[in-house]
Amino acid sequence: MKKTLKAIRGMSDILPQQSSSWTKLEHSIASVLNLYAYREIRLPIVEKADVFQRSIGDQTDIVQKEMYSFADKNGDFITLRPEGTAGCVRAALENSLLQQIPQRLWYMGPMFRHERPQRGRQRQFHQVGVEFFGSGAPEADAELILLTRRLWSELGIRDLRLEINSLGDANSRKQYKEKLVSYFSRHLDKLDEESVLRLQKNPLRILDSKNPSLRYIISRAPSLIDSLDEQSRLHFEKFQNILEKYGINAVVNPRLVRGLDYYNGTVFEWITEELGSQGTVCAGGRYDNLVELMGGSAVPAIGLAMGLERLLELQSLQNPLDAPLTTDLYICATENDLDDEALKFAELLRDSYPHLSIQLHASEGKLKARLKKADRSGARVAILIGEDEIRENQVTVKPLRTRAEQTTCSISELEEVLGRFL
Ligand code: ATP
Ligand code: MG
Repeated sequence: MKKTLKAIRGMSDILPQQSSSWTKLEHSIASVLNLYAYREIRLPIVEKADVFQRSIGDQTDIVQKEMYSFADKNGDFITLRPEGTAGCVRAALENSLLQQIPQRLWYMGPMFRHERPQRGRQRQFHQVGVEFFGSGAPEADAELILLTRRLWSELGIRDLRLEINSLGDANSRKQYKEKLVSYFSRHLDKLDEESVLRLQKNPLRILDSKNPSLRYIISRAPSLIDSLDEQSRLHFEKFQNILEKYGINAVVNPRLVRGLDYYNGTVFEWITEELGSQGTVCAGGRYDNLVELMGGSAVPAIGLAMGLERLLELQSLQNPLDAPLTTDLYICATENDLDDEALKFAELLRDSYPHLSIQLHASEGKLKARLKKADRSGARVAILIGEDEIRENQVTVKPLRTRAEQTTCSISELEEVLGRFL
């Protein structure tokens, strides 16, 4: 027997019974973003490796371990995008979008990271990314929070915790890094191998360690908030005041850092307790230096990314009754010779009832086998077309999900009859 082919580990199919919740989620997100006048940008899934290497940071998990990079047939080094911001900045610069600021953009699609697959962590996963270019004001930070809060309520998602922090400016972060290195160096014996490496290369990331045995030592580390420069401190205070004014409960988490190097100032995460250890459904922050770093002029910016798999899982836990799309009508001739008539009638119905989902019976067989297929299709109502029906210009309407009797009616009565069963 031939061996069947399998998908790549960590990359899953989205099957028909799941895809309607995806479409619904995508529509809800798009409409909330439109409400805030964000415009969609569609970006390539593959970029030159440089786009990510230059922006995300050499010492980050993504660049060190997680990128799908390879040489293409021309020998160019290219990468399946692990995140959207770098490509979005590349596109905004290449197409001169930042000559007009503010510029509010969003995008959606698959991202690729070669990490260990587990609950809430795939190698191909989906994000919606939102980027707000051209404002360095705390109001811009607050807009992203208000927008996401509105989205959660639109999606029926409850009980998310908002954690916020400020990473300060480059200078205050540098000073903080020194404090951190000196602190952790005094406790080398309590660190794991990964953190010892990070101590030299990217000490801030130790705070982000997922290893529970490091929790205590991390909790006693000096706090970033205490090292903030004056401007970042004022910005962060104003941001918090706005959140408070709009009734948004935010928890300051001084250990909250982001996995990418380009962030500064405000960072935030929306977290749920209901998805196990991968509970962050949305994460974001300010990246005021990235546009310049990638070759543009200095344009302040803030953005966020939501993980759609995690949002969908949470939605299905919190609102389990959301039903997948169903077929309304199953159109079926009673015998093989009349299949043409069924096809013709199905097309007519699609003209008259554009809001219905209409499935045509599509295999030869006796009436009994046909009815069995109709039932298995999941359709709510079957419309049967036999010789008698054709002669009399009638159809037989057979409800499939209730005990109601089938009924034969003229075409002109069909709308009223269907109204009883659909
Ligand atoms: P972590 O520290 O948990 O690896 P990260 O810093 O890599 O997180 P981001 O790059 O901020 O995560 O990604 C934003 C969001 O995208 C996450 O909060 C999550 O919802 C989603 N996400 C990130 N990586 C994955 C993945 N491998 N599988 C599924 N969703 C993911
Ligand atoms: Mg990660």
